[in-house]
Amino acid sequence: MNNDSGTRMGFDCIANTYARFPITIQRGQGVFVWDEQGKKYVDFTSGIAVCSLGHCHPQIVEAVKTQADRLFHISNLYWTEPQAKLARLLCENSFGEKVFFCNSGAEAVEAAIKLARKFGHETRGPDCYEIICLRGSFHGRTLAAITATGQPVYQRGFEPLVDGFTHVPPNNIHALELAAGERTAAILLEPILGEGGVIPLETAFLQAARDIADRIGALVIFDEIQTGMGRTGNLFAHEHAGVTPDVMCLAKALANGLPIGATVAKDEVMAHLGPGTHASTFGGNPLCCAAAIRVMEILTETDILERVRQQGSYLKKRLEELSRWWPDIREVRGRGLMVAVEFQRPFPDLASHLIEKGILAIVPQGRLLRLLPPFLIEKEHIDMLLTALDEFRQRSS
Ligand SMILES: *Cc1c(COP(=O)(O)O)cnc(C)c1O
Repeated sequence: MNNDSGTRMGFDCIANTYARFPITIQRGQGVFVWDEQGKKYVDFTSGIAVCSLGHCHPQIVEAVKTQADRLFHISNLYWTEPQAKLARLLCENSFGEKVFFCNSGAEAVEAAIKLARKFGHETRGPDCYEIICLRGSFHGRTLAAITATGQPVYQRGFEPLVDGFTHVPPNNIHALELAAGERTAAILLEPILGEGGVIPLETAFLQAARDIADRIGALVIFDEIQTGMGRTGNLFAHEHAGVTPDVMCLAKALANGLPIGATVAKDEVMAHLGPGTHASTFGGNPLCCAAAIRVMEILTETDILERVRQQGSYLKKRLEELSRWWPDIREVRGRGLMVAVEFQRPFPDLASHLIEKGILAIVPQGRLLRLLPPFLIEKEHIDMLLTALDEFRQRSS
């Protein structure tokens, strides 16, 4: 799209908060999307870990169409069946016993933070409100969520931040021990730090967080907004470690592209949010829930998670092979289909090289290649990515 037609289209009217690639995506099907000129791309982003079951999955499209003919929205003044059914599916397939629905990841984190404060105040007194978070974490863009986020780049210019947050380095049990105390209401972490660079937390660290929280009566909150819904090869990433939280935040892939967030908790914890304490007009609306129900059914009733593990290990194996030829690769890491390649030096042209080759991928600052493909990804698409990366290697050496 040239600048003139972009202006006519209204691109100039969109707030300039994103540095966008100069392509306009019109259509998607499975692992592919097409731009306005008909060029086809393999999507290794899934719309940032959202369309995990592929674009326009026929069964999800069908579920949404059926619900769209019935009821879009009625508010939470009344019960709806799709919301109840989704809540039951989430509870049956996790440690959870109650679910609060909202519309995004940041809101799911916000609800968890409010829940932790309420729980802290009511079980241990008004001074118990502090949330321990990790350096390098990412929890969303509301004021409380950027305060929880352990990266100054998201906070600068928005001060004063919210009171009562403290940060420790990931995988540092000693620092966690020192930070935890009477004021600690909760420990909030991503089992694999996503936006922070795909950094897995060690099982021992997750277990230590659980033990410390149990000792002082604090909550463990896992932000599984990116790692959840099968992305790492299990329904939820904490299952790999065998460490169970008290509260879990979900969003991104929950409805495969429709906006929904969920805060899942144990009954005795969620009981601290009674009528009137928290709310969301759109939260858990029937249309998004209809999509999410189908997502949950596909994830739990088919062998798709086995596929995530298989394709994930093939992707990782091929990238590790490439790293033997390409000394600029520092590390290949991740789990399932949440994989990253860290480079020794930045490659600012890598993202546009991949776009030219018909591949969409996330390449923050040219230093990291983040791969979050749909679970339907085939070996041939992975091979295509590897060919494009190898061409780039030869060009840049
Ligand atoms: C994306 C993300 C969020 C924020 O989700 P939004 O829907 O953009 O508000 C929070 N936490 C994690 C781990 C995420 O990956």
